[in-house]
Amino acid sequence: MKKLRAGVLGATGMVGQRFVSLLENHPWFEVACTAASPSSAGKAYQEAVEGRWKMQSAIPNSVSNLIVKRAEEDIDEVCKEADFVFSALDMDKQKIREIEEAYASMGMPIVSNNSSHRWTDDVPMIIPEINPEHVKLIEIQRKNRKWKKGFIAVKPNCSIQSYIPVIRALEKYKPKRVLVTTMQAVSGAGRTLEGWPEMQENVNPFIRNEEEKSEKEPMKILGKIVNGKIKLAKSPKISATCIRVPVEDGHMASVEIQFGRKINEKQFVDGIEKYNPIAKLKLPSSPEKFIKYFNEEDRPQTRLDRNFGNGMGIPVGRLRKDYFGWKFVALSHNTIRGAAGGAILLAELLKAKGYLN
Ligand code: NAP
Repeated sequence: MKKLRAGVLGATGMVGQRFVSLLENHPWFEVACTAASPSSAGKAYQEAVEGRWKMQSAIPNSVSNLIVKRAEEDIDEVCKEADFVFSALDMDKQKIREIEEAYASMGMPIVSNNSSHRWTDDVPMIIPEINPEHVKLIEIQRKNRKWKKGFIAVKPNCSIQSYIPVIRALEKYKPKRVLVTTMQAVSGAGRTLEGWPEMQENVNPFIRNEEEKSEKEPMKILGKIVNGKIKLAKSPKISATCIRVPVEDGHMASVEIQFGRKINEKQFVDGIEKYNPIAKLKLPSSPEKFIKYFNEEDRPQTRLDRNFGNGMGIPVGRLRKDYFGWKFVALSHNTIRGAAGGAILLAELLKAKGYLN
């Protein structure tokens, strides 16, 4: 099968590097084009990331000599060299909105990590295992904007990736209230511990805008398409506290859920372990098991378990019942499941559903 040519906007950053490394040897996609800010542009990719390549594996040979383009100014050139683009830009949100729309209007499908279009009415925000049916919003988007081939689809924030799967998997027990405290890695801010000495030996109780995203984005994802846009879900009510902790990768969440219907421990564990509505599509980045329950009392642990399912699986553990409801911890790899890997899985879903050709 001929591979689709992917462009990566923001290819030199933390998430962009993750795209480049995850797409090495991908069976459906290949990185054909990289773009970033004017300060990286004009350099070979390996030169542009010299001294700041953060991945464990080496820069793929097929990408190291690609000349980095300017994401904003070289749209025509990127569109010639790619069949679709991933966006991992980090700059002014309004600017990103305009850049992503400019690409889509030129016929480019865009799969974005950025938050700038998450609340645009006709843009779907998708976790493939949770709301794959929202891909249909793309037809409405194309009609609204008179775009024939291009479109914008986005993935949600990294902070919600561990607990939304559990809420969705147990939907029939009517989750009513969710209290969540996230413990988020420094790579979520595009940083490393070495480059952020203030975070060493430290816990910071504030991540700007993160709690709002953690509470609201799930309502769009759990919503339904009504009259050409997503009608937000009304429940569960989510209250979040987001905390930065001194780990490189992996967002842990401590979660408490109240259900409207009775559920016992076996139903809880079976419900999450068996949940994966897109398993039959056999997408290349789908983990073999989506949610795994660990019986060990001290698992999941960030360092031991963040790479479960190649960083795409969701480890859950420490299920306990108390007088409010059920308590557990859940983990997700923020730059894989929560960023580049989640976007690649979304692109695979879009291809399987006929939106990427
Ligand atoms: P990052 O490391 O700061 O990388 C930012 C990228 O944007 C770089 O490639 C940079 O290019 C490019 N850029 C900056 N200013 C630009 C400009 N004026 N024109 C064109 N390109 C420009 O950020 P990141 O952590 O990878 O995050 C990227 C996006 O993913 C953000 O929107 C972030 O919110 C989102 N996200 C991140 C995570 C995570 O876990 N890190 C999770 C989910 C979503 P240069 O290298 O040339 O400056």
